[in-house]
Amino acid sequence: MDNSHKILEATIANYDHCADLLRADEVIGVPTETVYGLAGNALNESSVRKIFDVKGRPLIDPLIVHFSNIDSAEAHIAVNQSARKLAAAFWPGPLTMVVPKRATIPDLVTAGLSSVAIRVPQHPVFREILKRLDFPLAAPSANPFGYVSPTQASHVAHTLGNRIEAVLDGGPSNFGLESTIIDLRASEAPAILRHGPITEDQISKTLGIPLSTHIETAADDTSAQTAPGMLTQHYSPSAKVTLLEHGAINSNLADKTSALICNQKPEWYSKQCNVFWLSESGNLNEIAHNLFALIQRLDQQNYKHLWIELTLESGIGQAINDRLRRAAAKIT
Ligand code: AMP
Ligand code: MG
Repeated sequence: MDNSHKILEATIANYDHCADLLRADEVIGVPTETVYGLAGNALNESSVRKIFDVKGRPLIDPLIVHFSNIDSAEAHIAVNQSARKLAAAFWPGPLTMVVPKRATIPDLVTAGLSSVAIRVPQHPVFREILKRLDFPLAAPSANPFGYVSPTQASHVAHTLGNRIEAVLDGGPSNFGLESTIIDLRASEAPAILRHGPITEDQISKTLGIPLSTHIETAADDTSAQTAPGMLTQHYSPSAKVTLLEHGAINSNLADKTSALICNQKPEWYSKQCNVFWLSESGNLNEIAHNLFALIQRLDQQNYKHLWIELTLESGIGQAINDRLRRAAAKIT
């Protein structure tokens, strides 16, 4: 079914309407600078349950809670020195911090953990909504669990439109990849849980200490996680995904049913079918911005097999490669 009528323009009347829906414990699609989110009242169990239901997300996978500023977060979390430093440097923006929670945050949000993941987002449309509410918003990516994350309102309408009332349109997500997650439960031993647009180097320089990395890559994603991290298989299109080392692209791989996705326009390109690139010049920010949208477009065109070139492993390239490896992982 075509659900494009559920996409709402970013107007004052629609902000007010969306705020009303959220006050009535509904969940809606909202734009963020990372990817589109499926937002609901983080302090209300029935809204939070709807988020898990609509996405088909397992209850062991905790949600990120979004606030309009760090002051409004303080009633619900314990802010430590490291969190304050990182907030001053990167908020509003694509950085999520895991910190100790207070009792006001329902256990359902955090999969029973005593910590909560929080973020102050930058997208002006999302901020307009937060400004109208006296509660924070839990908002995982607005896609069916395990599928590629949405970076445009149309992606949300296409995959979840039957199950939600509205998607606010804020244009294509600027970064196009989910936020960086940093674990600050032990203030003196910060650890990266998920790579993202804010790099390890930027965080480590701001804190003045090296970081450890605790990214979940275990194959056993079915048992309850004591310290939930990322699930191994995620961001997966219906098409089979095979990764190619950076620079190892080969024009023979693309045929009628398979597509080749390169970082940049290949030197050998001369109108071959089914060859695509994510950035004219191989710019990593452009690659991140375009990645999920291109994968969704090719998936909707029913390609059976996507050959995708990994990027260089520097800066945001670490986050891009992380998403590609998860998209390619198949758990049997
Ligand atoms: P998303 O899938 O973008 O909604 O991001 C949520 C991810 O944040 C989860 O899958 C976890 O990896 C991580 N996360 C959320 N809350 C916590 C927490 N309290 N402790 C550790 N990781 C968390
Ligand atoms: Mg997600």
